[in-house]
Amino acid sequence: AELRGAGKWVLFEESMSKLRDQRLQLDIDLRTAVKREEFEVFYQSRVHLDTGAICGFEALVRWNHPTRGQVSPLEFIPIAEESGIIHDIGLWVLERACEQTQLWRKQYNLAEDFEVSVNLSPQQCKEPNLVSSVTEILQRTGLPASSLNLELTESLLMEDIDQAKAVLHALKRLGIGLKIDDFGTGYSCLKYLCQFPFDSLKIDRSFTKELDQDSVEIEEIVRTIVQMAGNLKMEVVAEGVENAAHVSRLRELGCKYGQGFLFSRPVNAAAAERMLGPKRGQ
Ligand code: C2E
Ligand code: CA
Ligand code: CA
Ligand code: CA
Repeated sequence: AELRGAGKWVLFEESMSKLRDQRLQLDIDLRTAVKREEFEVFYQSRVHLDTGAICGFEALVRWNHPTRGQVSPLEFIPIAEESGIIHDIGLWVLERACEQTQLWRKQYNLAEDFEVSVNLSPQQCKEPNLVSSVTEILQRTGLPASSLNLELTESLLMEDIDQAKAVLHALKRLGIGLKIDDFGTGYSCLKYLCQFPFDSLKIDRSFTKELDQDSVEIEEIVRTIVQMAGNLKMEVVAEGVENAAHVSRLRELGCKYGQGFLFSRPVNAAAAERMLGPKRGQ
């Protein structure tokens, strides 16, 4: 038995070092991926829960790896954050999303408040040039700042509160909307969170998921989040809306916006465009 155990340990070590090698290789591949533009921006619709009308998109990055196929952002974003390549990837995604949205704004009769949301890694807030890079991207693409929204998860913001606050207030002054992503899952300290200029929050999909299980507790938590957001003049978007029961519960609880597979999966630009209705002048 001891020998078998020892053998297992060797296997375990081997698989650990295999994992390390894979990470290392992905890290190397990420550097060339930026240069070779192996990334693609996918879009997922955000809708008014009352009408189902589309009110914006969230931009989600995809990596088409030359040999491994599509690699999930859940796998490569953490590596990119650790190595710092997230700065380049993040700005590339931002520019693509702004450029595309500005084109759609010209081609389609989008609602006045139609917004594209782009995920901003808290790591990116540490880049001293972030605000000027974002300003340049808005100028180059012509997208009004009011049509851009940035989504941030709260946890890393708390590492250097003063710096994060300065960056977020500067972005806010440009006229960009700011959203708290995955709300309710981090160890968010509400007192600090209130010092950031967020104007909307996203209820994490782990809450939405339980809304069709008749869990009174989850319903009360969601109701409380929606009420608190309302008092703070923040909009609420529910993530992970997968079925009609989710929609009716969320509406009952006062949540105005939703996003999820029920409405659309994240899709490439060509498919996203088909959700925007008829082109102008057609
Ligand atoms: P996120 O920002 O919370 O994005 C939502 C994730 O939930 C997306 O996964 C989306 O495909 C998925 N999702 C949407 N609706 C549903 C639903 O109804 N049910 C379920 N089960 N899932 C749903 P994705 O695209 O794999 O992205 C994963 C995470 O990777 C994102 O979570 C975000 O944290 C990160 N990420 C993606 N793109 C970027 C990016 O451009 N920059 C940065 N910094 N992070 C990104
Ligand atoms: Ca997000
Ligand atoms: Ca806006
Ligand atoms: Ca989220």
